[in-house]
Amino acid sequence: MIALDATHDPARRSWVETANDPASDFPIQNLPFGRFRPAGSAQPWRIGAAIGDQVLDLRLAREQGGWGRVASAWLEPLAEGELAPFMALGAGARRGLRAVLAMALGEGSERRAALQACLVPQAAVEYALPCRIGDYTDFYTGIHHATAVRKLFRPDNPLLPNYPWVPIGYHGRASSIVVDGTPVRRPLGQLKGPDDAVPRLAPTQRLDHELELGFLIGTGNAQGEPIAIGEAEAHWFGTVLLNDWSARDVQAWEYQPLGPFLSKNFATTISPWVVTPEALAPFRVPFERAADQPQPLPYLDSPANRAGGAFDIVLEVGLQTAAMREAGVPHQRLMQSNFRDSYWTIAQLITHHTIGGCNLGSGDLLGSGTQSGPGAGQGGSLLELSEGGRKPITLANGETRTFLLDGDSIELRAHCARPGARRIGFGRCEGHVLAAVMPA
Ligand code: MN
Repeated sequence: MIALDATHDPARRSWVETANDPASDFPIQNLPFGRFRPAGSAQPWRIGAAIGDQVLDLRLAREQGGWGRVASAWLEPLAEGELAPFMALGAGARRGLRAVLAMALGEGSERRAALQACLVPQAAVEYALPCRIGDYTDFYTGIHHATAVRKLFRPDNPLLPNYPWVPIGYHGRASSIVVDGTPVRRPLGQLKGPDDAVPRLAPTQRLDHELELGFLIGTGNAQGEPIAIGEAEAHWFGTVLLNDWSARDVQAWEYQPLGPFLSKNFATTISPWVVTPEALAPFRVPFERAADQPQPLPYLDSPANRAGGAFDIVLEVGLQTAAMREAGVPHQRLMQSNFRDSYWTIAQLITHHTIGGCNLGSGDLLGSGTQSGPGAGQGGSLLELSEGGRKPITLANGETRTFLLDGDSIELRAHCARPGARRIGFGRCEGHVLAAVMPA
């Protein structure tokens, strides 16, 4: 459990003036890490920290000197343009560097003159994945999503009996994970309607998004040595937004008996900025189970997890059609939900993943599963919002959607806010749909 300290003080301000805007995702209390370079350049990727509408270039910052021996050692791998070696240093280095950067970027800092020259406007950069993604696992912690999706097919029996006991997941595909802003090609796949005698190969007609969070592992575990729940969060480096693009028609035909395959392996988009557990610390909330639900088995339970293992993170999805983009209309919000409604906590996912001896590695990514809210209109996918494609959504400009059309852009956003804490955000996780290409 991470205690709040001076870096969380909501009164703390930065000499980077845009960081003090109450609407900024990146105040001095956040300080997420990302990998960037000047847009359109062929320069080597470098690691930066977001502050207001700027990026602090950590290579340039290290070259300015004056960091002291310990902080210089933390900055060294970052100055090389790699986040992974720093992630593997563990929570101590991450916390220490946060404190150092909060001082250096704080109002009245004597480092201001030196660091001013290390700022790059976010509007002038492009992003890479924050690190090489090792293995990728996608969970299914959104009970409202799981219930709604199964209801579409089994109204009488909305949840499988294992759901309240097992953090359900599947092993996904890391090679097709891309960063915010990368276009997504509509995939081909086998489609078979209920009245078709045989399947055919065609572009998916039911392309969908899934609103998720992604958790990056900082330090792994040895094979055969499970991570106890009390230790689990120490292995978690940070959090990103994650869109698990899904081809629902391909999924419906292929998923039994071994689960999703090509319906989900063509693209997964994540946001560029990795928000640390320290930045999320003020937004911890108790993990509670409804009275009619079973309590977690002992290996998934701890006093700390019950007291503050869940997080209050507001999540939302926006859609912008090609016509909206041409008219200069921004993304229209489709829904909002909250990660506090997740059926399992991050610590429980890490512990369950390793309980059989599976080894997690630095740079592994765990997806949360689609985070739908309990209410109507809170579906984290179009499958839910359009009730399986039966009920089109009407947009403000009169266009309708059941699933995504070519040219559509999906943007995920998230933020945390509560009285007594500074609001922080996650930036954006956007991708737009390109037309399918049929093989020659
Ligand atoms: Mn998913």
